[in-house]
Parts: sequence; C-alpha cells; structure tokens
Amino acid sequence: MPSRADIESLARRRCLIALSAILSSTVTAASAVEWKAQDDPFTLGVASGEPIPDGFVIWTRLAPRPTEGGGMPDAAVAVEWSVSTDEAHGNVVRRGRATADPRLGHSVHVEVEGLEPGRWYWYRFIAGGAASPTGRTRTAPAAGAALARLRFAFASCQHYEHGLYGAYRHLAEDDLDLVLHLGDYIYEGSSTGKTPRRHETTEEAITLAQYRNRYGRYKSDPHLRAAHQRFPWAVTWDDHEVENDYAADQSENRDDPKWFLERRAAAYQAYYEHMPLRRTSLPRGPDLQLYRRLAFGDLATFHVVDNRQYRSDQPCGEGRRGGGNMVANCAARFDPAATMWGAAQERWLEDGLSSSRTRWNVLAQPLMMAQLNNTDASGQTVNWTDGWDGYAAPRARFLARLAAAKVVNPVSIGGDIHSFWANELRPDFGDERSPVVMPEFVGTSISSRGIPYASTLKALPANPHIRYFDSRQRGYARVELTPARCQVAFRAILDAEDAASAIRIQASFVVEAGRPNLQRD
Ligand code: FE
Ligand code: CA
Repeated sequence: MPSRADIESLARRRCLIALSAILSSTVTAASAVEWKAQDDPFTLGVASGEPIPDGFVIWTRLAPRPTEGGGMPDAAVAVEWSVSTDEAHGNVVRRGRATADPRLGHSVHVEVEGLEPGRWYWYRFIAGGAASPTGRTRTAPAAGAALARLRFAFASCQHYEHGLYGAYRHLAEDDLDLVLHLGDYIYEGSSTGKTPRRHETTEEAITLAQYRNRYGRYKSDPHLRAAHQRFPWAVTWDDHEVENDYAADQSENRDDPKWFLERRAAAYQAYYEHMPLRRTSLPRGPDLQLYRRLAFGDLATFHVVDNRQYRSDQPCGEGRRGGGNMVANCAARFDPAATMWGAAQERWLEDGLSSSRTRWNVLAQPLMMAQLNNTDASGQTVNWTDGWDGYAAPRARFLARLAAAKVVNPVSIGGDIHSFWANELRPDFGDERSPVVMPEFVGTSISSRGIPYASTLKALPANPHIRYFDSRQRGYARVELTPARCQVAFRAILDAEDAASAIRIQASFVVEAGRPNLQRD
C-alpha cells in the first residue's frame, strides 16, 4: 500500500510533468490585455545586470502577492519601460513596451541597447497605472578602453531564516560598479529550531509555484531590493537554488534522475524569472546557459561559471547519503574522467582565459577551490566531496593549464562555505614548491550560518596554502582593481540578527599585478 509520502510524491511528479509540457511551447510576445493594478505590482522591486558597453538588462516581475502565486491574472500584461540619464526621468534616452507573460511569472527582462559606455543610467517600469521604484545602473566601459579603477562586491549564501540582511544594507550604500552573486540566493529548505525569521512555508520548494513564492519571500527584504536597485549585478548559482548538493541530474535524495530533471527545470525557470539575465539564459526544459563573460575596458574580464549543471556525481558516495560526504582514501577524487564544468564549459573557460587581454581575469565561481584536508577522530585525512576536493583531478588539470597558458593576472572568487578565506592556489597542493598560479578569495555568507570555527581552524596547519580563514562573521567582500593591484576587503557585520548592525573590515589583502601571491594589507 503506498504511503502518504508516496502519494504526495506521485502528485508532485504529475504536476511537474504537466508543467514541462507547457514550457515546451515557445514563449512568444502574446497580445497584452488591458489591466489595472489594484495593489502595487512592483513588490519585488527592480534589478539590472549583464552590463556591456552600450547597454544592460533591466528587470522586474509583476507580483502583487509575491508569496501567494504572484496575484496576477492569467494573461499577458503590457509594461512600459524607460531609461534616462537622470534620476528624475527628465531626460529619457530609451523607452519601449515589453510584455509580462504569465508563462514566465509575469517577469520582464529588457535588453537595453544603444547607450553610452561607462556611465550611470536610471530606469523604471510602468504597468497597470502603477510606477516601479527607480533603479540605477551602469554600462560597461568601451571594449579595450583604458580604465583606471573598477570596484565590485561579491556576495553569496543568504538563507532568509538565518539572519537579517544588514550586509546588504551596507552593500547598497557602498560605492560599486558591479555586484556579483555567487550562489545560494534562495534556500529550497527550511531550518529547524529558533530562527530570526521564517520562509513563507516550512515546506521544501519543489514545484515552479513553490520556487516562485520562495523568491517572493527573499525579495520581500528591503535591503536585498535596495542592493539590486542601486547597481548592476551578474549572478551565478550554487546548489540551493535547486536542492542541496545536487550534481547535474543526481539529487541529494537519490530521486529518479528523470523526475529530478523536472524539478530542476522548475527551479531553473524560477531563477531566470527573478534574475536580470539575457535571452541567452532563457531556460529550455531542464537546461539553462549560465556561463558567460563580462568585460570592463582593458582592466578586467569576469569569467562567470556554472559548477552544478554539468558536473559529474560526487565521488565515493556508494553506501552513503547522496550529495557530499566527508571521505577518506577516496581514489575516485583523482579520476581524470570527473568534471566540475563539463567538457564544453571547461574548454570555453580555458580558451577565454588564455585569449583575454585585460589586466585582470576574475574567475567567478560558487565554491572554494583550494584543497582543505581535514582530520577525522581516528587521525585519517578526510575531504568534503561536494566541494572542489571531490573533483581534485579536474582542479589540478585546470590549474596546471592556467599556469601553462600564462593567463594574465587570474583571481578566483568564491562562496558556498559561509566563511572568509584567502588562499594561494597551486596545481599540486602537496608540494609547497609548486608555483602559486592564482590567488583565491572566498566571501562569507550574507546571512547563512557559518561552518564550525574551532575545528576548521585546527585543520589549517595541514593546508599551508590557506592564508586566512574566519567563519564567525556574516558579510561580503569588496574588491578594487587598478592596473597595478587588486585589493580585497572582507567586510563583516557585527550582528547578523540586527539589520541596523554596523560593519567593519575584518581583513584586507593586496595582490600586485604580475605576482599572484597574497599580501596582507
Ligand atoms: Fe550556502
Ligand atoms: Ca552551497
């Protein structure tokens, strides 16, 4: 006799299969209906991203009831947009009409073109007689143009239930050209125990409707909305936008991969609907093209990668739970057939890095790349398989090729482990004479609880390439690039349960162009 859980799971499966049938029909510009807003449809705010020299993406989603299915009629709605050179919209330089399509959750993604390079613009939307907040954004400098300075922040891991977004309050007031989000923008699951605030439900998000409501909850936070409203963003995902520790079509709970891909399709679609992404990232069933490059004059190229969609399964999982595990003596960690990025993305990344002519090359990826050897109770060396340590062969291959290709000033930035790290990456972490090929900076979480501090600290002597670690603070990292140096400040809020918390610089580092070693600032 099927259990209640079986019946629920069957119902979910049916619902997801029906959804995929709808999505397989192409989204076309449907004829918009006349619609009058009763309540504010711009509860999720506005956002922008993907800056290029003559434009960017501007985004909003109409959702008067953001945690209850959106609250829009099941019809396409016309949305006016405009871009101006002033905050008061006195000098509109571009305007147009877009369609908020119910099949994409009434989200709106406009790719604005024909603007001037390297300057600020303001934008807004009007729908159903209501006006959105005014967003500010910036075009990239002209390709190859001399650029003296670029400032950006990178953020990750913002479990809504674990803390308030004081870090975003400070980020929104910072002086930045760009924000990178490196994943765990939402969490699919809820926490047990006492938390400062709760998701809209304790149920795990599985269907498109549930993922949409979850984004609705996260974007109800005014500090997150302010951070989007103030700067262009470039985003990539980690695991929790879909499910903890998933690997391509392999779920943490060892679900039928066919079923899991239906869930992934729903999660990827909701991600697209809530991020300022280009048409090139429109989801196609369970697939979404996320890896891409953004260039800023002659100073910097961001190589933004996807560590989830194409990876091989975590190694040595037999007889254990799905997803990541702490393992000892796992020879499969060194399997050359293993992959983090998939062959096509890995080639794309290596080609782009070796041909880039900008002064800095930032690898924006969701995880920590450095080796982290831990010791278990019996004294054995153990490694966490969901991170790069589970993919030691592709990591060594990539770092060796990076060195051989003489990539110009590569810098890796990452997230995922809810702690600050500054590391020196070597193709062979076991050999201190192996050259440092790239510095790595891992930013702590915006709000998600940190990993254990004392026990991790004990592991550091076995990992001399790790130069800094602290998991006790929440916050973000702020980077300033000039032709001569890359300066990274780890900014930490004092109290993650207080949105008004002060912020301080926890640690700061400098990397000089031409020398990949870390220096304390
Ligand atoms: Fe996280
Ligand atoms: Ca993660």
